[in-house]
Amino acid sequence: MNIPVFVNEVKGFLSEDEGEKLYMLAKESAAAGPCLEIGSYCGKSTIYIGSGCRDVNSILYSIDHHIGSEEHQPGEEYYDDDLFDNEDGIVDTFREFRRTLRQAGLEDVVIPIVTKSATVSRFWAIPLAMVFIDGGHSEEAAMADYISWMPHIMPGGILAIHDIFPDPSKGGQAPYNIYKLALSSGLFKELPMTNTLGILRRISV
Ligand code: SAH
Ligand code: MG
Repeated sequence: MNIPVFVNEVKGFLSEDEGEKLYMLAKESAAAGPCLEIGSYCGKSTIYIGSGCRDVNSILYSIDHHIGSEEHQPGEEYYDDDLFDNEDGIVDTFREFRRTLRQAGLEDVVIPIVTKSATVSRFWAIPLAMVFIDGGHSEEAAMADYISWMPHIMPGGILAIHDIFPDPSKGGQAPYNIYKLALSSGLFKELPMTNTLGILRRISV
């Protein structure tokens, strides 16, 4: 696996086995088209997926408004003081994200898109080899990401969803709910999970 070792030092919410699985999935699928992720944060998942894309000469669109989710705001559970822009009084992960891309040498592979996921999807028309959903974890945000991006996954392509907790006592249910919705649509085949990473393959037509 051709993944920069400093990925372990990048701030983020992805375990090593999940990251390596994302790398493999990108490497296997991205020769057929670009990948897209929702939820760049500081670039941890971006390094894994981007490295897989680079290996097969593909690209990764990485979407984040970079002002953090609800749980990243001051006073919330995953607030990080290093990522607060004191001048503007907002969380800003874009600077850290760009630093990660520079260090990883992925600036010619990853295309940052700095706005809300729903805004990007409105006129999207590029078929995608893989979509990784790891953005907002409210029911509305997760559902909006699923509804807007699912149609763009090419037949045979991958839908990966992070933070799947079938046991409600282990974590929020929004990602799991869209995972179940995808399965019940009949458009996807379930592949083995890696930790909390749910993986579905769009059925070829
Ligand atoms: N994939 C990252 C973690 C993502 S955390 C990793 O590997 O570490 C979730 C991110 O989603 C946050 O950075 C937040 O800013 C972003 N986000 C939440 N809602 C969003 C929305 N509606 N549009 C774009 N980005 C969003
Ligand atoms: Mg996550």
